[in-house]
Amino acid sequence: MNTERNEALAATPSNFIRNIVDEDNRTGKWGGRIETRFPPEPNGYLHIGHAKSICLNFGIARDYGGVCHLRFDDTNPEKESVEYVDSIVDAVRWLGFEWEKNGTEHRYYASDYYDELYRFAELLIERGKAYVDSQTAEQMRATRGSLTEPGMPSPYRDRTPEENLDLFRRMKAGEFKEGEHVLRVKIDMASPNLNMRDPVIYRIRFAHHYRTGDQWCVYPMYDYAHCISDAIENITHSLCTLEFEDHRPLYDWVLNELADAGQFTRPLPQQIEFSRLNLTYAITSKRKLLQLVTEGHVDGWDDPRMPTIVGVRRRGFTADGIKLFCERIGVTKVDSWIDMSVFEGALRDDLDDKAPRSVAVLDPLKLIIDNFPADLAEPCSAPVHPHHPERGTRAFPISRELWIEREDFVETPPKGYFRLFPGNKVRLRYGYVIECTGCDKDEHGNIVAVHCNYFPDSKSGTEGANNYKVKGNIHWVSAAHAVPAEVRLYDRLFKEPQPDAGGRNFLEALNPDSKRVAKAYLEPGADAMQPEDRCQFERHGYFVADRYDSKPGQPVFNRIVSLRDSWGKPA
Ligand code: ATP
Ligand code: MG
Repeated sequence: MNTERNEALAATPSNFIRNIVDEDNRTGKWGGRIETRFPPEPNGYLHIGHAKSICLNFGIARDYGGVCHLRFDDTNPEKESVEYVDSIVDAVRWLGFEWEKNGTEHRYYASDYYDELYRFAELLIERGKAYVDSQTAEQMRATRGSLTEPGMPSPYRDRTPEENLDLFRRMKAGEFKEGEHVLRVKIDMASPNLNMRDPVIYRIRFAHHYRTGDQWCVYPMYDYAHCISDAIENITHSLCTLEFEDHRPLYDWVLNELADAGQFTRPLPQQIEFSRLNLTYAITSKRKLLQLVTEGHVDGWDDPRMPTIVGVRRRGFTADGIKLFCERIGVTKVDSWIDMSVFEGALRDDLDDKAPRSVAVLDPLKLIIDNFPADLAEPCSAPVHPHHPERGTRAFPISRELWIEREDFVETPPKGYFRLFPGNKVRLRYGYVIECTGCDKDEHGNIVAVHCNYFPDSKSGTEGANNYKVKGNIHWVSAAHAVPAEVRLYDRLFKEPQPDAGGRNFLEALNPDSKRVAKAYLEPGADAMQPEDRCQFERHGYFVADRYDSKPGQPVFNRIVSLRDSWGKPA
C-alpha cells in the first residue's frame, strides 16, 4: 500500500474496509468477486449492535454486486434453538437485506459442516498438527503460561498420529466422558499470543443439538469452525469485531495448514476487524439481554424498551432509520460509545418526512367553550404533513367540549407562560382563538374543567384570524368525537449511560420509570391506523400503533421518540 492511500485511509477511517475491497478489486485479488457473511450464533435475539454488522456485511455485498451469506454459527449445542434462528431470519429481512442471488439462497449453518470439520481434524492429526490432550481443564489452564511467561508443553503433546487418531475416533464414538480428552492443534506453547498456544479445537459434549440431534458428542470450537466455514463458503472478506484481532493468527494458521494439505485454494478468506457498537443507555450482549427477559425485568425480547431488533421494531423504529444510523456512525477500528441521542436523531430524521401528523391529548383536562352552541360540530382541517401539501388535509370537528393537556392550563402563570390562564387568550390549533374565564374544582381542590369563550370570527384559515395576535397555541380534540386509546410512553431502560461498564451489575442501573401507560384521547380517524402505522402526534413526538396489541376500535400506541432530544434536560 502506498503512502497516498494510507493518508486517504486515515482521513476517512469509516471507509477502511471498503478501501480494502477497492484495493482488492484494483489488484484483481478475487477477480472482482465479493462474498461476505453475517454469522450470528442462534442463542438469542439480535440487537442493535448486530444491526451494525448486518448493514456493513450486507451493505458491502450489495454495493459491490456481491453476496452476503446468512450463516448460523451454531457450534454450541446447549444454547441454540430454532426459535432464535427464525427470529434472526425475520430481523435481517425486516432490515431490508437478502441473501439470495441468481436464484441461490445463501443461508448456511456451521452445523452442516460437522462432517467436513471432523474430516479436517483427522487430516491435521495425520499431518502431526493436532493431538489429543488428556490433561484436565485445570492442568491445561495452569500450563498455559501468561502474557509474560511461556506455556508448558502437555505431556501428551508428542503422541503419535496413530494414537491420536485412535483416541479422537473413540472420542467421537462416545467412549469417553466430557472433559476426559480434547483435541488441540500443535502450534507454539511459547507464542506471545496466547491464542496460539496449542488451542483446543474439539471438546466432548453429550448435548442435544437443535439440528443434528444426538449425532455428535464432539463439537468444534469457534476459532476452528469459523475460519473453515468461511473457506468452505468462499468468503472473501470476513468482517468481525475487534476482540477477534488476536485470533486472526489462528484463523490464518488453520486455513494455511488446510491449504497446504490441498483442501483449500489460495487466496484464503481475509479476516478484518472493526469496532463493535456500544450504545449508551443500552446493553449489547445477548447473554445480558436474556437475563433481562428470563428474570422478568422487561416484558420479553420484543419489549419496546429492549435494544433488540424486535424490540426497537415494536417501539416503532424504522428499518430505514436504523440503516441511516449505521451509516452515520460509520465503521472504524476505534472502540467508542455512541450516544443514544444519535440513534434517536436518525429516527427523527427518517420519520419527520414520512409521518403523517395527528393530535393526541395524553393527560386530558376538559375545556368548555361556554359561548359555543351545544349542538354544533364545526369542521376544521389541518395538513397531513406541513411540508407536503400534496398529501392533503385531515378533517376533525370542534365542539363545545374539548380535551386539552392538563399542563396547558394554570391558575397562576409562571413568568413566560403563554398558554391558558384566567384572562389570557390562546389559539386552539386549527380552530378558534379563545379567552380563558376560569376553572372548576372538586372538593379536594383539583381542577376538573377549564372554561373559556371563543371568538367566532377568529377561525384559522379565515380572514378574521389575522386580527388576533396570541402567543399561545394549544392542541385539543373534541370530547364527543375523540378516540380513546392506550398510549405507552417509554423512557430509557437504564438510568446510566454505561449500565454494564466495568463489569458492574447492570440491573442496578435499571430505570424504574421506563414505562408509563396513559389513557389518551386521539384525533378522530386515528383508530383507522393499522398495526405498525406511524404518525407524529403534534407536540408529543412520533408514535406507532402497537404491532400486537392495537386493535380496530381499541388503538394502542407506543411513543417511538419525542420531537426533540430532551433527555436529562428540564421539561
Ligand atoms: P453477544 O455477545 O451479544 O452474543 P456476539 O458477538 O457473540 O454477541 P454473534 O451472534 O456471535 O454475537 O454475532 C454475530 C456477528 O455480529 C458477529 O460478526 C459479531 O462480531 C457481530 N456483532 C455482535 N455484536 C456487535 C456489536 N455490538 N457491534 C458490532 N457488531 C457486533
Ligand atoms: Mg458470539
